[in-house]
Amino acid sequence: MFELPEMTTQAKQINATLQGKTIKHGRLGNSPHKFVWYNCSPEEYERLTRGKTVGEARAKGRWLLTDLEPGCTLLFGEIGGKLLYHAPGASLPTKYHLWLEFEDGSHLTAMTQMWGAYELYKRGLEQERQYVKGMRPTPVEPEFTPAYFSQLIDELMRGEKRSAKGLLTQEQLIPGLGNAIAQDILFHAGLHPRHPLAELNADQKQKLYRAIVQTVADAIDKGGRSDEFDLFNQPGGYVRIMDSKAVGKPCPVCGTAIEKMQYLGGACYFCSQCQA
Ligand SMILES: [Zn+2]
Repeated sequence: MFELPEMTTQAKQINATLQGKTIKHGRLGNSPHKFVWYNCSPEEYERLTRGKTVGEARAKGRWLLTDLEPGCTLLFGEIGGKLLYHAPGASLPTKYHLWLEFEDGSHLTAMTQMWGAYELYKRGLEQERQYVKGMRPTPVEPEFTPAYFSQLIDELMRGEKRSAKGLLTQEQLIPGLGNAIAQDILFHAGLHPRHPLAELNADQKQKLYRAIVQTVADAIDKGGRSDEFDLFNQPGGYVRIMDSKAVGKPCPVCGTAIEKMQYLGGACYFCSQCQA
């Protein structure tokens, strides 16, 4: 799944590569998938995209919004898999969930893995979409300050009991994070995935805040994770410390073997010595 660093990379690459291109033909998928969401029919999509020009793309959490001028916004929500640019003359995938053909002979195709939304909105209405509307500040936005983070934790402590991993992966509490980057954030923060939020002391909160902001910034700098692909089908440069390949190997800090456990709907990788 694309998380904020991968979405940010895709947005930058769309701006550098696709901006200004005019759409000749827009098609929705030819490969039925239970968990792919569209908000218009193939005919509507074709009609609404024809002749539009690609405007600015931007990432917001795990959502990617691209303006199609005039007046529309294309939204990719919580997608994974491949979102690819194809230069004129390049071969195209036979299966796709979305395809834009441009007048210069280049193409954009999307093929999702697990799930994802491919939706087209009249400009402004995308802001009303569930999960986009009312989205909390993401770790790259100026509103995501230490004071905001502290308030967020205080607010959550009044509700159901949560853990450190829960804060990072549940309900878009910190939009843009997911199970992949959460592993490295917890490692840098020295927190066990099950560490109760209510038991974080001031120092741990500060360390967690720094780990979130720095890990996300680092992954963005490196063009996203190395287990995901960018617009040009190239893997990102951010190699995770804590992933399936790390299990049983020595922790880079203390040498203890990295462990794996299933927790909150996904695998966790952690050092039982460094993360308490
Ligand atoms: Zn360790």
